[in-house]
Amino acid sequence: MIDGRGNVLGQSRHATPTVGGPPAVIAELAGAIDDAAADAGIARSKLAGVGVGSPGEIDTRGGTVAQARNLPEWIGPYPVVRELSRALRVPVAIGNDVQVATDAEFHLGVGRPYRSLLGVFWGTGVGGGIVLDGKPWTGRGAAGEIGHIVVKDGGARCACGRRGCMEAYAGRAMMEARARKRARKGAKTDLFQIMESKGRTRLTSGVWAKAVADGDELAVKLIERAIKALGAGVASAVNVLDVEAVLIGGGLGVRFGEDYVRRIEEAMMPHVFTSDRPPAVHLVALGDLGGAIGAALLVPARQPAGARSRRPAAGRRTRGRARTP
Ligand SMILES: [Zn+2]
Repeated sequence: MIDGRGNVLGQSRHATPTVGGPPAVIAELAGAIDDAAADAGIARSKLAGVGVGSPGEIDTRGGTVAQARNLPEWIGPYPVVRELSRALRVPVAIGNDVQVATDAEFHLGVGRPYRSLLGVFWGTGVGGGIVLDGKPWTGRGAAGEIGHIVVKDGGARCACGRRGCMEAYAGRAMMEARARKRARKGAKTDLFQIMESKGRTRLTSGVWAKAVADGDELAVKLIERAIKALGAGVASAVNVLDVEAVLIGGGLGVRFGEDYVRRIEEAMMPHVFTSDRPPAVHLVALGDLGGAIGAALLVPARQPAGARSRRPAAGRRTRGRARTP
């Protein structure tokens, strides 16, 4: 929940349902928005609207989401905007999750000095958001799929079914699959003990960070492999777009922080064509709230003081934007 100046007034997090398909996700979103409104002390009827940042292929005009592979039973286009606005009785806008996070950094975060940006979100997968000449670039609805840049022809199998994608090396889900396979084959690692001691069932960013801090050999090796892939992939995207700045975010990006952003920058450099004037590389400023803030910015509202002009564009989490008093 944010106000007209982009200040966060309230928030709520709900886990993504694993069964029940799109209707279950919509019901959970509606619940999260009610909780965020309660957290902010604002009645839902007072919201100017709700912005949704979603994975998958987004049709911003039609208000539908298709091929959201990390969501349950979500293949064909589903009318998210229609169903959520029906449930909440407020206007709803939608965009790609990582694109809106990039837009949030452009308007309110570390991207403010620049006209062109590439946002790289290093988490479960690796997503990208693009701002060119001050405007979000969404292509035909699927731009910014930086995770599927090929870094090794015929290389590791990716979650998308293809081979050699950057995400096959750097995405947390694929890194976990690799770690499990290596552990089964007898590689020594504390990754899974750390996971259990934290009460987790997945190798979260926190688990990876602890293992690396402890010097766990397999964890260090897999993170190094991820950074190498990120260097090649992000530099390749930079060579096409020639953006002024690259912003690194996502669960792993935010957790590992500034030192790892510098390591990614170093890994990029051998591949950057304009090596005499490379783009600036920054850690995101809005942390893991960037996606939610960016989604809320999709809702037309009064210009926040000091922020750039905004236009509704392409999004992950959901927030309502409260009308300015
Ligand atoms: Zn892929």
